[in-house]
Amino acid sequence: MPLLVMKFGGTSVADLARIANAAEKVRREVERGYDVIVIVSAMAGKTNELVGWVEQTSPFFDAREYDAVVSSGENVTAGLMALRLQEMGIPARSWQGWQVPLLTTSAHSAARIEEIPRANIDRKFAEGMKVAVVAGFQGVSREGRITTLGRGGSDTTAVAFAAAFDAERCDIYTDVDGVYTTDPRIESKARKLDRIAYEEMLELASLGAKVLQTRSVELAMRYKVKLRVLSSFEDNDETSGTLVCAEEDIVESKVVAGVAYSRDEAKMTLISVADRPGIAAAIFGPLAEAGVNVDMIVQNIAEEGRTDVTFSCPVGQVKHAERAVMAAREKGTIQFSELVADTDVAKVSVVGIGMRSHAGVAARMFSALAAEGINIKVITTSEIKISVLIDRKYMELAVQALHDAFELDKAA
Ligand code: ADP
Ligand code: ASP
Ligand code: MG
Repeated sequence: MPLLVMKFGGTSVADLARIANAAEKVRREVERGYDVIVIVSAMAGKTNELVGWVEQTSPFFDAREYDAVVSSGENVTAGLMALRLQEMGIPARSWQGWQVPLLTTSAHSAARIEEIPRANIDRKFAEGMKVAVVAGFQGVSREGRITTLGRGGSDTTAVAFAAAFDAERCDIYTDVDGVYTTDPRIESKARKLDRIAYEEMLELASLGAKVLQTRSVELAMRYKVKLRVLSSFEDNDETSGTLVCAEEDIVESKVVAGVAYSRDEAKMTLISVADRPGIAAAIFGPLAEAGVNVDMIVQNIAEEGRTDVTFSCPVGQVKHAERAVMAAREKGTIQFSELVADTDVAKVSVVGIGMRSHAGVAARMFSALAAEGINIKVITTSEIKISVLIDRKYMELAVQALHDAFELDKAA
């Protein structure tokens, strides 16, 4: 039997009616002759609620218990989806991550998938089951504890299953009808892309475009999974949505493919750090150990042996970062006069494979921001992206200005 993976995100399973709507889409594929693995997210808002409960109970929580709690939203939707399909006369069964088992590292709250043994699900398909419904986002470590794959992780569950089961395609059903040049909720002129290269999608995702989890794109690229993003609220056909594919499979392309943003960033500056060899390691080692995802880093030129070191991280990790840095100062491994946190910043980025061979993208980006009077606080670049840190209140404006500056509303 040919096999499809269909993933439904939170808004697509937000209530019983939406689950029924998603189940209809599954039925259509079963009628076309597919065996289907359905991956479900928790109902919209559920994971946030669970995270909130954990944080209220324990500010510096034990990540194993965090995973035990926040993985539970998907258990509900997986069971309900299987029940709904059974009601429609379709042989279906649900699996939680540990039952598959979807084996992961033990990096709780950000675990990586190591292996998906096929035997249990294959046996059921062989017995006549048509649909396996798998709870997204969760797995089990070799120690036997429940793990989660990081926010948005159901996308990664879906792609990993598509790779493990040689699926014909992995369809990601969500609340937009594809990948756009930027978030259509921020820029109404955003244009839907028919195709986007894995590399560009990877950058957009890692820079904040949450339509796909970064890791899912990485896996799709590595295992050449045909990955499609489409709407769960529309009627679709073979050409619907956006196909994430190899660069060679794209005919038209622009220098800049899209604009991404990340709203909840923070900028932290250690003032007057005693500059000496090893200082960066002394600062960023403890931050890494505390699980802080440091993104941009700037170290100023030292004067009289003192310098300022600035880094950015997700705003939700500021407390952890402060704690780690202060502990290092108490131990005497780093010396500085002050730690200043700016929690009102956002990151805006432009991404495009064309930047490899075109100069002038940075200049165009900076002048578009300058024309709006937006001050740039930190800049980083790579081969195919440029990111800036700015005041959060200008984020929408910056996205729109850049979308205009690179004429992303117009087809290539
Ligand atoms: P799901 O719950 O289905 O996983 P997400 O909320 O995680 O859905 O992702 C879909 C959302 O991603 C859209 O509603 C949209 O606001 C946002 N988004 C951000 N950037 C883009 C983009 N470039 N193209 C499409 N959607 C985007
Ligand atoms: N429910 C999880 C989250 O909100 C995983 C997902 O939806 O992809 O992050
Ligand atoms: Mg998502």
